[in-house]
Amino acid sequence: MKDTRRRDFLKKMSSIAFMGFGVGFSGCYQPSSRRNMVGNYIDVHVHIGHEWMKDEHLTVKNLLDWMDVHSVEKSVVLPLVSPESWFYPVSTDYVLKETAPHRDRLIPCCSIDPRTLNLGGREGTVLLLKEYIDKGAKGFGEHKPGVAMDDSRNMVLYESLNEVGLPCLFHLDNSRNMDKVGLPGLEKVLKTYPDLVMIGHANGWWASIDGDAVQADFQSYPDREINRQGAVDRLLAEYPNMYGDLSAGSGANAISRDLEFGRAFIIRNADKLLFGTDYLKVGQKIPQFELYENMDLPADVRAKVYKGNAERLFG
Ligand SMILES: [Zn+2]
Repeated sequence: MKDTRRRDFLKKMSSIAFMGFGVGFSGCYQPSSRRNMVGNYIDVHVHIGHEWMKDEHLTVKNLLDWMDVHSVEKSVVLPLVSPESWFYPVSTDYVLKETAPHRDRLIPCCSIDPRTLNLGGREGTVLLLKEYIDKGAKGFGEHKPGVAMDDSRNMVLYESLNEVGLPCLFHLDNSRNMDKVGLPGLEKVLKTYPDLVMIGHANGWWASIDGDAVQADFQSYPDREINRQGAVDRLLAEYPNMYGDLSAGSGANAISRDLEFGRAFIIRNADKLLFGTDYLKVGQKIPQFELYENMDLPADVRAKVYKGNAERLFG
């Protein structure tokens, strides 16, 4: 099919899916052909991995099988390069190489640890990012270094990302991209680079959904009900370049800890939220599918959060 015709076809199919019978049937979805599948979701946060001890290796094949079962049309595949991010580095080159035969389904990202910037500075970083873009990278992340959110080396990295136009998906807690209650470090980044898309993920970001969050919440899964909106709502509303990644235990917890607040939060921020799972291990339990399907979200909200916003950001 020609590209434009295929796009129209995909659009039509996804709108049919969202009209009722396409959504919420992860149990009876029939995997069809690997290529050009039309699914309910774009997952903005998955990983592939190397063999590690007794765990089954999460290969590209395993990932695609899992996507077929859960009606995930495309996934954004994130390297993990910082020593604080994962016990075994998942390099950008590995992600680019493994995803290369499946670019219709797998969208690769690139990552650079800001502490290596002393080698090439901003110029060297921009050159490296351009090389990754030439090889197919559509975003930056998972950005997860053990430095402060607004560390001077991080700021040089953000400047470089701003120059090449890649969205940055970052992990924020008390030991990676650290920030204070109210997220002043992140706000400084948003203000300094208003064209750089920042996508918030992990415990520190999601604890800040609560206006009464304390620093210890940044490294945990708070279960208190939420009495007033926090920094997450404020930054999403005030900064067009701020987005939220709903993946992982932290994303699911932020919504499920107070379902009434969580549902209203998704509806009022429907243009700024991205469906994601953080799938990184074969057999991993993923709460997101059931959680959102049981929330009775309006069809247009689901369309944006499940797919539309990600299509806009990751091309
Ligand atoms: Zn992750």
